[in-house]
Amino acid sequence: MPSKGKKGKAKSGSVSQPAVPPPTAPILSTAYLFPGFHDDVLKALSDDGVPDLALPEFNLVGTEDDATHIYNSTIQADFQCINPSCKKTGWASGVVSITIRRFPDKSYNAVVYNQRCKRCEQLGFMIPNGTYTARVSYRLKKWMGWRMDPPPYHGEGGVRTTRGPHEEKLCEGCKAGVCENLEAKAGKLQGETEGARRLATLEREPDIAELEALMMAFALAGRAGPPPL
Ligand SMILES: [Zn+2]
Ligand SMILES: [Zn+2]
Repeated sequence: MPSKGKKGKAKSGSVSQPAVPPPTAPILSTAYLFPGFHDDVLKALSDDGVPDLALPEFNLVGTEDDATHIYNSTIQADFQCINPSCKKTGWASGVVSITIRRFPDKSYNAVVYNQRCKRCEQLGFMIPNGTYTARVSYRLKKWMGWRMDPPPYHGEGGVRTTRGPHEEKLCEGCKAGVCENLEAKAGKLQGETEGARRLATLEREPDIAELEALMMAFALAGRAGPPPL
């Protein structure tokens, strides 16, 4: 678990949290793997003509240190604030940090960085949309030597977006130093950049059915543990 960098109070030993969360509780983490989307990625690769023999495995344990290829980009995601005392129900962002990694055996994984609720600053419950599959499959094909046009940034899944400032204190990708927003700010954005340049945030009701369907992905991500940053 990466450090949250909070200096606050030391824990005094009071047991206010259960040791094991209820099995249906969303696992809140600063970053996630989404093995549950692997089949979608494989389908996208297959649909684009990648032969079965070249289809990669999802790597649940690979870290930056093991990777032969690393690429930082952004996707879109919806977030739900599950803090019961917070009035904000959710938000959507068009600048969600993702780090895609390829390993020596050609397996891959993709770390997606969480965001915090603007109102209460608790970590959100994150649901990436189809941009995850588009971005990851694009990058994998590129690493396989395919030549392609970059995928579109906006409009997938009908997510309406608005422009606004990117808030670093709410973005775990910024804190981990991988957010494309930081690169853009530092003027380093160049070459094969894929990401959106601006944040897209708006109030939006989370899709509960989608949330429930993704529980498995979160459970797996929790078991694998957040990647070392
Ligand atoms: Zn909140
Ligand atoms: Zn950021």
